Amino acid sequence: MSPATHTHHPELTKHQTLVLSALSREESPASAYTLLAHLQAEGLRAPQQVYRALDKLIEYGLVHRVETMNSFVACAHPHEHQHGLVVFAICDQCGHVDEFSDSAIEKRLKGWSKDNSFRMSAATVELHGQCLRCDGVAAAATDAPAAPVPAVAKPARRARKAPAAELP
Ligand SMILES: [Zn+2]
Ligand SMILES: [Zn+2]
Repeated sequence: MSPATHTHHPELTKHQTLVLSALSREESPASAYTLLAHLQAEGLRAPQQVYRALDKLIEYGLVHRVETMNSFVACAHPHEHQHGLVVFAICDQCGHVDEFSDSAIEKRLKGWSKDNSFRMSAATVELHGQCLRCDGVAAAATDAPAAPVPAVAKPARRARKAPAAELP
């Protein structure tokens, strides 16, 4: 995704634009402090300036928070989905994150919420494991363990963000 995609956004302030383009250049999720370090030359001085910009960008759906990494990513497709459900597949080895949505999972979560009179405002599922590239490297190594650690779906820490995902 090119940072230029968002420069037309009328509500983006200078700081928000800077934070979004810095985040878009990152290979993996970045913490607010990493962003601040990259943006100090641009005039951002305090973590609060970065956090304020991130809060707005999250609100606009341009940035997501990856809870289990305490970090942030630029949305992979900000104009293509409504963020009812966001799924992150996170490689624990290289930090690469794939973002996708899944209407079947979303439907189940919405069904559960409706049945339990729960008003769901957000749903994030974070999968941890190894990406194809890192898995390939491990398999190629002669001393690689015979059985790679299976990818485990970790529930988000706060239940309100991932209500009882009983996935098949
Ligand atoms: Zn997104
Ligand atoms: Zn990887």
